[in-house]
This record gives sequence, C-alpha cells and structure tokens, in this order.
Amino acid sequence: MILLDGAKVANERNLMLKDMIDKDLVKYHRAPSLSIILVGENPASQSYVKGKGKACKLVGINHQLYNLKDDVTEEELSNLIEKLNQDESVDGILLQLPIPKHLNEAKLIDLISKDKDADGFHVINQGYLYQKKPTIYPATPKGIMTLLKAYDIDVSGMDAVIIGRSNIVGFPIARLLMDAGATITVCHRQTKDLAYHTKNADILIASAGRAELVTKDMVKPGAIVVDVGVNRVDGKLVGDVHFEGVSEVASYLSPVPRGVGPMTINALMENTYELYLKHVQK
Ligand code: NAD
Repeated sequence: MILLDGAKVANERNLMLKDMIDKDLVKYHRAPSLSIILVGENPASQSYVKGKGKACKLVGINHQLYNLKDDVTEEELSNLIEKLNQDESVDGILLQLPIPKHLNEAKLIDLISKDKDADGFHVINQGYLYQKKPTIYPATPKGIMTLLKAYDIDVSGMDAVIIGRSNIVGFPIARLLMDAGATITVCHRQTKDLAYHTKNADILIASAGRAELVTKDMVKPGAIVVDVGVNRVDGKLVGDVHFEGVSEVASYLSPVPRGVGPMTINALMENTYELYLKHVQK
C-alpha cells in the first residue's frame, strides 16, 4: 500500500506558493490577505482556524481573525461580512463552519462576495463548478484532486464511489471526479447497502463523518481509498476508514491525520492567492 501523504505534498506546494508570493510582493507591493471569521469556541473549529493561520504565516498571506461570541446576531455578522467585502485590502473571506443554529448559514455564505469566496462555497461559484467553468473550487475536493495528481493517479474510466453528499465535500468531489472521467456513485444515509457499492469502487472517497465506517471487507483489493473523515474518539483523531485493516487491501490510502486535512489547507492558500492575483492584476 502506498500512503497518500497529504502532509508532505501540501508542504511542498506551500513552499512553492511562498516563493510565488515573495516574488509578487515585489511586483504588486502587497501580500495576499485572508480574513477568517470564527463564531464561538468550538474546539475543533478553533484548531482548524489555528492550522489555517499557521499556513498563512508559512506562505506569506496576511490573515486577520475575527472571533465573534456565539450569541452574535445575524445582523452583526452580516455587517462584518459587508465591511470585509468593501475593504480593498482583503482578498479572501472565510466563515469557519459550522456556525450556531440561530444564524442562517446559506444566507451568510452567499453574502460573502463571490470574488472573495476563499472556500468556494458561494452559490455562484458552486454554479460555475457544476457547469464546468473555471472558478474557485471548494478547498477539500480541490485538495483531494491535487493529492491524486501528485501521485499520478488518473481516475479516467474508474468506478468512483463517494460516501457523503454534502455541499462542501461529497457533492463537489463527485463532480470533479466525473469531470476527470470517472463513473460516479454517491452514497449517503439512505443508501440501502453501502458495502454493495463500496466493494465495486476502484476509487473510494469516505466523507461521512463516521469513525471507521469503512472496513477491510468493504474495499475491493487494489482500490484507491481517500479518507476525508475527521472524528474525535477518546481524544484521538480517527478517520472514516479503519486504517489498519484497509491498508492490507488498498493500493493507495490517505491517513488521518496528515492526509486530506493539510491538502484542504493548501487548497485554501492557493484559492486565496488566486483571488489576490485577480485583485492586483485588474
Ligand atoms: P456532513 O455531515 O455535512 O455530511 C455527511 C454525509 O455523509 C451526509 O451526506 C450523509 O448522508 C452521509 N452519511 C453519514 N453517515 C453515513 C453512513 N453511515 N452511510 C452512508 N452515508 C452516510 O459532513 P461533511 O461536512 O461533508 O464532512 C464529512 C466528514 O469530513 C466529517 O468527518 C468532517 O469533519 C470531514 N471533513 C474533513 C475535512 C478535511 O479537511 N480533512 C474537510 C471537511 C470535512
């Protein structure tokens, strides 16, 4: 089994990005800038935001963190987003999800200017993605595609099975894999017999958020397995794939942690850089 080492690939790409940003700093007289909005004190979200801030520092992106109280009103949050939309020194805006239930997530995401949508979640950017037009791609699916490419994995003609159909992972990765020539099956909570589908997968993407849902007997020998899940079990991070068992049958397997997570952050850095170029070159 070959390990899909997201930490290594992401680090290499971040260093290349740093070089490009260093050069652009001389050319455009300012660094890219990302504003991160965190609502409340969810420890997982705090840790993701910390990781994103650390990556910004590494590649040379200025970042500002707005940590709002979890009882912030929708109006207050909307006002902040509007202010950042207007601020010409801000290239990217990221609203760390999930946000508390009293806030309308879809509405707030779409309030972020589509030209500052570092996460690629805006309805217009998702529309471009589904129409196969160039756009800012959601960070996790983009990171997965980059990881596959780094290992010269060509999915054309493969049967791809995706577990999960969310707007931020399952659905867009299905689209990107289909565009790359794979035949797609998307499984979800209502899927009758999950193993029936997964056993047919040449490439399996596990993004259900269920610790060790995918076991060895559910995987076709030689399959490529990408584990997106991040679950906390007894204080430890565990993926959606039973790593030990599945590593005996898979040809490639991404670990948790150090697999898709760092690739997602790298994709976010690359998205912010893309937005920055659009702003400084206009
Ligand atoms: P979500 O809860 O929005 O979606 C989960 C999907 O999985 C749903 O479509 C649901 O129908 C499906 N599902 C749940 N249980 C299932 C089961 N038993 N069988 C089949 N399908 C099932 O979650 P999400 O935001 O898409 O995230 C999925 C996982 O990926 C989570 O663990 C999340 O933490 C992780 N994640 C990781 C990264 C990263 O960078 N590594 C980024 C985003 C999300």
